[in-house]
Amino acid sequence: MHDLVIDNALVIDGLGTPARRGGVAVKDGRIAAVGADLGAASQRVDAGGLVLAPGIVDIHTHYDAQLTWDPFATPSTALGVTTVVIGNCGFTIAPCRPPDRDLTLRALTHVEGMSLEALRAGVRWDFESYPEYLDAMERRGVVPNVASFVGHSSVRTYVLGADATKRPATDAEIAEMRRIVLEAVRVGALGFATSTAEQHNGENGVPMPSRLADEREMMALTGALGEAGRGVFMLTKGMTSTIPWLEKVAAANGRPVMIAAIFIDPGDPTRVFREVGEIEAARARGRELWAQVGCFPLGMEFTLRHPYPLEAFLGWRPAIEAADEAAYRRVLADPSFRKTLKEESASTGVPNRFSDKTWPHLTIMDVTREGHRHLQGQTIGELAQASGRHPLDVFLDFGLDGELDAMFDCRLFNTDEDEVRKLLRHQHAAVALSDAGAHLSFLCDAGFGLHLFGHWVRERGDLTLEEAVKRVTSDVASAYRIPGRGRLAPGACADLILFDPRTVARGGKRRVNDLPTGATRLDTPAVGLHGVWVNGVRTVDERGVIADCGRPGRVLREFGP
Ligand SMILES: [Zn+2]
Repeated sequence: MHDLVIDNALVIDGLGTPARRGGVAVKDGRIAAVGADLGAASQRVDAGGLVLAPGIVDIHTHYDAQLTWDPFATPSTALGVTTVVIGNCGFTIAPCRPPDRDLTLRALTHVEGMSLEALRAGVRWDFESYPEYLDAMERRGVVPNVASFVGHSSVRTYVLGADATKRPATDAEIAEMRRIVLEAVRVGALGFATSTAEQHNGENGVPMPSRLADEREMMALTGALGEAGRGVFMLTKGMTSTIPWLEKVAAANGRPVMIAAIFIDPGDPTRVFREVGEIEAARARGRELWAQVGCFPLGMEFTLRHPYPLEAFLGWRPAIEAADEAAYRRVLADPSFRKTLKEESASTGVPNRFSDKTWPHLTIMDVTREGHRHLQGQTIGELAQASGRHPLDVFLDFGLDGELDAMFDCRLFNTDEDEVRKLLRHQHAAVALSDAGAHLSFLCDAGFGLHLFGHWVRERGDLTLEEAVKRVTSDVASAYRIPGRGRLAPGACADLILFDPRTVARGGKRRVNDLPTGATRLDTPAVGLHGVWVNGVRTVDERGVIADCGRPGRVLREFGP
């Protein structure tokens, strides 16, 4: 007798097989059978003809801190995600010595888009080492399955303390960091993650620790994966990390490299395809490089008080360093500051940042002053054109005119969908980049899987539903050597979603205040999602997340070679 049978479904197995009528039988958290005539079960669910598919595997999230107080990894569970990978970009909270806790949270507050108060109130520090972090998560329990990278920035802070953001490491420090990475991989880390991206800064613009690593340190730490014979190297790359350099790393350690973030940059729209070409060439030489791509325009909401997208400008530094609001306003008004920024925004060849191509995609969403209400919905590009002034002057003058808290929506990358389509269909692309759990006040792309099924399959017809499901289930699970997930096949884990292909989508944006201390975040509800099961346990039904579903997720610690 099975524990559960879901029948009368359109089964899409996540492996690219054409959809077929039938269902799945579940026993002890695993799929016992797929097809028709599944036999007796203690519980039966009539799928009513909806699509039954593997749960979405989100390989790019930042729930490291949140999972210590929220086992649901909100909102990913509600959006059909059954496995989350944390520790991306090397931003983790373990290992961490007690005296460094505040330092770690200060570094995270910026990239997480979460207030320091919320982090301080929320994080439960029931661990110090990386193995203890995994053990504590296992003890507390999780709703989705969780796989975790060991993160470069935390390892660096653990070994160098406050110097982690200031200087290169000594040989002894590098050896100690390597020992920690190796230990982490041996107790169940999925791999090693880092960031060299210029926009990854902590509080007051202090660079994330990993950005201080030199070549020796990078080769030593990625080399630990080679020594262990397992693990993925994940990196969010800045302008100094080239694909040929990443190929060199892969050649040295023999491990897969997951390269984020590969998207269409309007400032240099062909660059991404040059990079993809370099990845192809590396593949031909036997190096397993992956391009991590996203299915959303990379956009965010922000205010001039916390202008995350602008911080990638080298010339923005004086604004980051301004001690208080008065000093900040002086910097924004300074003609020489503006001149530098104008030159920088006009220059091409600087990857992945705000540029002159962004102004038409920078929209005023919400104003503070009544007299400015007529400007809502207009773009800075339009206003500049109408007034004949430089868009930067229009933008900063508007902010200085009592609007430092006005909300902007900015679409930076992936705005040309006919180009994005090529990336989504590319055989060595991994579809992810939700950044779920980070940038909470700026964006919410945790529903990327539902968006892929609704927008790219139903609305645009760029992928079949079978292909789209495979992209966000077995393809990424295989790339990350996660065994037995992302597929509906006998013996696989029973991570399932049930959805209506005629309506499935990511819903409209809304602000909610469910973070510790009542802090707000952006949220997008699921549309057309009827059920989610993790290891055979239902976590979402037609009404949404089931609050008392238990903690059916597993902390994943065993990965293939
Ligand atoms: Zn990230």
